[in-house]
Amino acid sequence: MSGKVILVIMDGVGYDTAVSQCGYLQSAVSLGIARRWKMVTATPSISGPMYETIHTGLWPYEHGITCNHAMRSSEKDNVFSVARAAGRITAAVAHSYFHKLYAGEAWDPLRSIEHCNENGDLQYGRFYSMEGYGRANAVAPAEIDLCAQTIRLIEDHQPDYLLLHTCAADTLGHTFGGDSAEYRAQAMMIDGALARVLPVWRAAGYEVMITADHGMSAEGAHGGTSSVETEVPFYYFGDGDVSTEDGRLNQLQLAASLLARLGVDPARGMRPAFLTKAAGK
Ligand SMILES: [Zn+2]
Repeated sequence: MSGKVILVIMDGVGYDTAVSQCGYLQSAVSLGIARRWKMVTATPSISGPMYETIHTGLWPYEHGITCNHAMRSSEKDNVFSVARAAGRITAAVAHSYFHKLYAGEAWDPLRSIEHCNENGDLQYGRFYSMEGYGRANAVAPAEIDLCAQTIRLIEDHQPDYLLLHTCAADTLGHTFGGDSAEYRAQAMMIDGALARVLPVWRAAGYEVMITADHGMSAEGAHGGTSSVETEVPFYYFGDGDVSTEDGRLNQLQLAASLLARLGVDPARGMRPAFLTKAAGK
């Protein structure tokens, strides 16, 4: 019984990295407070395509966002549009790619950082552009600052679906490699920020799912099919029953699972949910 869900996408944090570095999340698993599975992503294991796959339940080949250079407004039924059609409230703290996909407006770097469109699919947003990103300057927002931005969105708008997307681990993975102290330390940084905000979210009545869009190779890349690129964690703080045939979860089934916990039926074409449906409102 829920109806309110927060999804955290830890950009670029692979399964083994999460298990070894995210001590807070792992302690919740050890205590039986959360459950964790290995989730397998779609391919190509690239951020923009996976954002759309997570929200549509479709392969990039099917939804058409096949690379980061192809970002545009989503043309498929997605978690934001289906939730809105069912009268749910949506919000996000995320990279500007999510604005391009779901905000229904052109990205304006001077005005879109704070987003409010009550008639849109993604109604309330706090976005970051990372303009100028490169080896000399990661321009990644602090994990705790991103977590903090969710609190006012919750207090002001009580979203039913709230997305939090962090980007710094991906950035440092590209810069230093997926087998680097810098990349691992950033995964630990996310875990530390979540340790502070997760109790607030849970007290506000949210189920929380924590995953990644893709992993990271030792060379500092992703997009291929190797296990370090396509195996990501899925932590679940919630009451739904999970069904899995081989102990692993399929990222393509996450969209329908998110909707199920919102008490909303999936769109036609979405892969079936691995989570049971919550009682509707
Ligand atoms: Zn990346």
